[in-house]
Amino acid sequence: MMVSRRSLFLGMAGVAAVAGAGGWAASRVGVQPEPPAPPGQDEAGRLLWRNWSGIQTAYPAQRAAPGSEGELAALVRTAPGPLRAVGSGHSFMPLVPTPGTLVTLDRMTGLISHDKATSTAVAWGGTRLADLGAALAGIGQEMPNLPDINKQSLAGATATGTHGTGATLPALHGNITALRLVTGRGDILDCDVARNAELFQAARLGLGAFGIVTQVTLQNSPLKRVERNVWLQPLEQTLADWPRLHQAHRNIEFYYLPFTDMTAVITHDETDEPATVRPPAQDNEALLDLKKLRDWLGWSPALRRRVARQVMSGLEPERVVDESWRLLSNERPVRFNEMEFHLPLEAQVGALQEVIAAIEGQRNDVFFPIEARIVAPDDAWLSPFQGRMTGSIAVHAYYKDQYDFLYQLVEPIMRRHGGRPHWGKLNSLKRADFAALYPRFNDAAELRRQMDPEGRFLNDYLRGVFADA
Ligand SMILES: Cc1cc2nc3c(=O)[nH]c(=O)nc-3n(C[C@H](O)[C@H](O)[C@H](O)COP(=O)(O)OP(=O)(O)OC[C@H]3O[C@@H](n4cnc5c(N)ncnc54)[C@H](O)[C@@H]3O)c2cc1C
Repeated sequence: MMVSRRSLFLGMAGVAAVAGAGGWAASRVGVQPEPPAPPGQDEAGRLLWRNWSGIQTAYPAQRAAPGSEGELAALVRTAPGPLRAVGSGHSFMPLVPTPGTLVTLDRMTGLISHDKATSTAVAWGGTRLADLGAALAGIGQEMPNLPDINKQSLAGATATGTHGTGATLPALHGNITALRLVTGRGDILDCDVARNAELFQAARLGLGAFGIVTQVTLQNSPLKRVERNVWLQPLEQTLADWPRLHQAHRNIEFYYLPFTDMTAVITHDETDEPATVRPPAQDNEALLDLKKLRDWLGWSPALRRRVARQVMSGLEPERVVDESWRLLSNERPVRFNEMEFHLPLEAQVGALQEVIAAIEGQRNDVFFPIEARIVAPDDAWLSPFQGRMTGSIAVHAYYKDQYDFLYQLVEPIMRRHGGRPHWGKLNSLKRADFAALYPRFNDAAELRRQMDPEGRFLNDYLRGVFADA
């Protein structure tokens, strides 16, 4: 969820008037061109694959959409490598690109079975989270923690540690109780805490490097309605209140709006109240208004701050009630690139203050809200949340803007505070860094080698992460 404030949008008319009246519109950053598009096919006629933000590309020799586990196992044994599974291509890191075979589970989707008494359900790995939410609601279940969007596939989301927010809620893979995968040898294995237990700990968040996950068993919760509240308040107040706030609400996060000193706080709490009518989302417009503020007033941080505060003052809080799977995830029509680090909770506020100071001191072009969330621990070997309560910080860059500052300014701060990167989001860490951050990293790398001795699942990036174990 982004800063979805209708009134912010309307208030921006005032910014335009102020900027225009002062002649500041003349200083506006010119309309940026689209980043150059790579050719639609390579010289061999292979078609382009591109991730959601457009920065990762590949021309796979073969594309496959198996319709059964048997078909997938045969494919893994014979298709040209590297074989990389793709979900919905929403990762920013080069996890998916391959010159070999790109495998989608788009023909292996939907619910397989469920148990009402225990609120568990088995789903195909290719199921999109949006479809899963609707299907689970149909059997009276929900995933209580969901990411900002629900376009991802179930296996793709859990493979990188995709998470939502809430002090008692683990990331999605933390609620996997069993899975089935096809290994690099083409074997079909069931894993849980009793069967292939080590593989279960590694492959729950396995980057598609331990096998292609076909079925996932989820520990869900009974379906609930939640009340969403969104309000703006000064950053200083949010940081001071953060420990109380994250104890008080089921799902909670906040966005810092750069160059405004203001945050948007978003909470979701269970309720028996009836669903309310929801006005159409205004996320896109609010975001583009923050961009306008940058374009027009970026040259003067003080003025930008003053006008932003003026526009935001007096905005009404927003309240809406619905089933949680309908509210927790939203649309993200404005593309961006993103870095997110997961820090020990006690380091989150200090790191965020440093990130804000660095950006506001050196990068007037940044306008995307900075997101802070909280995630409960789990014990998957490659989980960034392993063994500690986590405070996450995510910094975004508009897809037409430079994102070098993420590496230059943001990453060093996150690393100094003990941060572990989101596996699907931008970072420059290497094998030795991961080995230092994850106590079981070398065990995971060795197990990976046993499951895939020929490195069938390793593309160039993953070879760098795992191969010399
Ligand atoms: C707009 C946007 C919003 C986002 N919001 C959040 C958020 O709120 N929280 C968060 O944590 N992340 C978020 N992300 C990151 C995103 O959730 C992850 O990158 C996720 O892994 C993408 O899922 P996907 O289905 O697109 O997988 P892909 O990006 O296609 O693949 C990701 C990984 O999964 C592997 N994989 C895919 N299918 C399988 C399979 N069947 N078996 C084994 N491995 C497989 C791939 O090989 C790859 O390694 C967001 C990303 C975007 C673009």
